[in-house]
Amino acid sequence: MDSSDGSIPTQLYDMVIVGGSAGGLSTAVSSLRSGLQRVRIIESSSRVALPDLIGPNQLDVGFGETVESIDLVGDDVVVTTNRLSYRTRGVLVADRRADPSWTPPLAIPDSPRVHLDSLASVADQDVLVVGLSDHAVELTAQFVDGGSRVVLAAAGMDPTLLSPAAARALRTLEQGRQATLLYRSTPRHITFAGEFPMVEFGDRRTPDLQFDHVVFAAPRQAFEPDDVGVTPAALDSGKVWFLGDPGEGRPVTTAPGWQVGIAMAEALFPEVELVTPLSPLERRTQHVGAIEELREEHYNATITHFEPTHSDLWVLRVKPDQGDTSYLPGQYASLGLGYWEERIDDAPDPEADRRWDKLIRRSYSISSRMFDDHGYLTDENGLDELEFYIVLVAPTPDNTPALTPRLALKRAGDRIYLGPKVAGRYTLNSVIDPRSEIVFFSTGTGEAPHNGMVIDLLRKGHTGPIISAVTVRKSADLGYADKHRELEFRYSNYHYVPMPTREPGIPKRYLQDLLRDDDFAELGVTLSPSSTHVFLCGNPAMIGLPEEVDGHEVFPETTGVVELLVQQGFTLDRRNTPGNIHYEEYW
Ligand SMILES: Cc1cc2nc3c(=O)[nH]c(=O)nc-3n(C[C@H](O)[C@H](O)[C@H](O)COP(=O)(O)OP(=O)(O)OC[C@H]3O[C@@H](n4cnc5c(N)ncnc54)[C@H](O)[C@@H]3O)c2cc1C
Repeated sequence: MDSSDGSIPTQLYDMVIVGGSAGGLSTAVSSLRSGLQRVRIIESSSRVALPDLIGPNQLDVGFGETVESIDLVGDDVVVTTNRLSYRTRGVLVADRRADPSWTPPLAIPDSPRVHLDSLASVADQDVLVVGLSDHAVELTAQFVDGGSRVVLAAAGMDPTLLSPAAARALRTLEQGRQATLLYRSTPRHITFAGEFPMVEFGDRRTPDLQFDHVVFAAPRQAFEPDDVGVTPAALDSGKVWFLGDPGEGRPVTTAPGWQVGIAMAEALFPEVELVTPLSPLERRTQHVGAIEELREEHYNATITHFEPTHSDLWVLRVKPDQGDTSYLPGQYASLGLGYWEERIDDAPDPEADRRWDKLIRRSYSISSRMFDDHGYLTDENGLDELEFYIVLVAPTPDNTPALTPRLALKRAGDRIYLGPKVAGRYTLNSVIDPRSEIVFFSTGTGEAPHNGMVIDLLRKGHTGPIISAVTVRKSADLGYADKHRELEFRYSNYHYVPMPTREPGIPKRYLQDLLRDDDFAELGVTLSPSSTHVFLCGNPAMIGLPEEVDGHEVFPETTGVVELLVQQGFTLDRRNTPGNIHYEEYW
């Protein structure tokens, strides 16, 4: 202890935090855990926002102390309160004020039971808190501590934007069932049943509820320097920081919200290695309630079957909660999972931070189970679920795949999003003559739409040859091989041509080689532009569509199947110009 002016004793501290808000407490806890020795919290009232943190973290709090000035003395900042004077290396002003530009989600009715930001008596009341900031959590914790039953309506809340202390308090309240958290609901109307507010949420998840009190929690913004008597010299020193979003032109860091505390500690205490906070996704996935609500809101179907061909290749079936599953063989549907779902890999995924409560949707061709339970060719349109054939896409330096690494962790019984409509003009519509030759070329999971098309042709008694050729890396990547073999056995006009390209002992050949070497002759089939339809699906490089350059069609450098077929007189089937080469590119 030192005495700078002889009257007020001066204490030496590493860091002084003005205000026991959740953000201020978070900074105190992380600074102490990172190795700072002396951190003092100055709290003008008799309660910090989350008192449970004091004991376990041995926080040093001066209750009932009000800051009178913050000045620069030598290299240090001196904080003078009504009781003491602190000499410190850095000050975080963690008190905040209501943001005057904030507008509540609905007009706040004039009633002694509807409040903005505070509630005097909270014992044994049913309270609705509306808000999604730290402050909403602070109020919820305060009312629960006071003995009330609290519902927090926090539509749109992103738990990672909360300070760690508020986020942890929220999880504890949720897990201990001390408060009911509605992560996706916000009040639409407040009416009155007698004197009591009756709140209508306007969504199918939450019934109308009656409360003793409704409290709207306005988001907070940073204090102004004058609020705590910061002198210009102290402000210019860069040693006084303000928690909350800085106002325009304010000389404070631009880090948002509570992260100011972390940025400040990094700037002022370079010798200290800060305890690394959890990644945003790690923090979010701890909020089980939020994730359950997101799933409930967005998912409308159940995975009824999930059969790995191997660890990275799956056949799955999806059953919508309601609605039609009819489609034309060859069409595709869309599947979706939330960014909030865990991934099987640990690839960096910045989208997951930016869009964590959004859905990732991708198109998937509808495949076919090919045989029903009795061994007959399946009639897909009589079923209430759709089959898909999906491969895990690996991350590359240029792309972090979003959906398949999340799908990899799903199993039968899990929920998923299924788009309400099937789509696509990659169908058998142009096959009119049952004697025509039909050739399906695919790479990997590109065989999915062909499986249903083959079954459809055979069910309808197609008599012309049907060939299904598929390239994969390894034989183990042929998820439907047994079924194709069974079809070949039953139908003499059906030919399955699997082509693994990386299997020892099997010469490496591509689909283009089948055309160049006329392997079809071996099968007794002659391809002819006048009677043959060719279907190509999967990797765009295999398909090799021409691009229009200066009014001419230019084929890619690496020859694809389309170029070889065009050389033989085939024509592309395009919107408004029918042809006999049909294609579906997967990317
Ligand atoms: C009409 C249509 C139907 C499709 N049907 C299927 C299907 O039945 N089965 C299926 O697995 N995928 C299918 N896809 C691809 C699918 O939509 C996704 O692109 C794929 O699952 C990757 O999604 P992601 O979010 O994990 O990766 P993204 O971030 O979307 O990565 C895309 C990249 O992954 C690679 N890629 C995409 N699909 C494949 C694939 N099938 N095999 C190998 N590499 C791929 C490509 O390099 C592409 O640039 C289809 C695409 C379209 C447009």
